[in-house]
Amino acid sequence: MSEDKVLKINKIGDGIVIDHISPGVSLDVLEVLKITGKEGMTVSLLMNVQSGKVGTKDIIKIEKKKLAKKDLDKISLVSPNATINVISNYEIREKFTVEIPQIVTGVIRCSNQNCVTNSKEPVQTLFQKEKSGDGEVFRCHYCDRTMSLPEVRKSIIR
Ligand SMILES: [Zn+2]
Repeated sequence: MSEDKVLKINKIGDGIVIDHISPGVSLDVLEVLKITGKEGMTVSLLMNVQSGKVGTKDIIKIEKKKLAKKDLDKISLVSPNATINVISNYEIREKFTVEIPQIVTGVIRCSNQNCVTNSKEPVQTLFQKEKSGDGEVFRCHYCDRTMSLPEVRKSIIR
């Protein structure tokens, strides 16, 4: 099935389509967006649909939904190649690929239990993205602890 046909199956009037989600990861995306289905929004989920000649992907369509910067940051950590389509009046108004930001604030918890961000102090977490080998690590601004992307994924504030 072509990408066009997939997008046309049930077009949404206003909302967002999160496309090119890593296959099998769409439920994690919904979780970090705190979408449980009880909000009453129409949500369509496609898992492991064909993408291109070899790959597969997940797609989520959410009606009447807007994404905040923190939502986009969370999506980028869960599925770095996801693309966001902003739909209004049945047209794609905006389309972009998420990007893991250089500075990640207020989105992940530090894995160091003694970090000030895990105390009762009202301190928002702040991590700096750094290159490490062929991957990326995230360094806590407050305690210097570094976390790998898989660790970060488990520490997203839900
Ligand atoms: Zn820390």
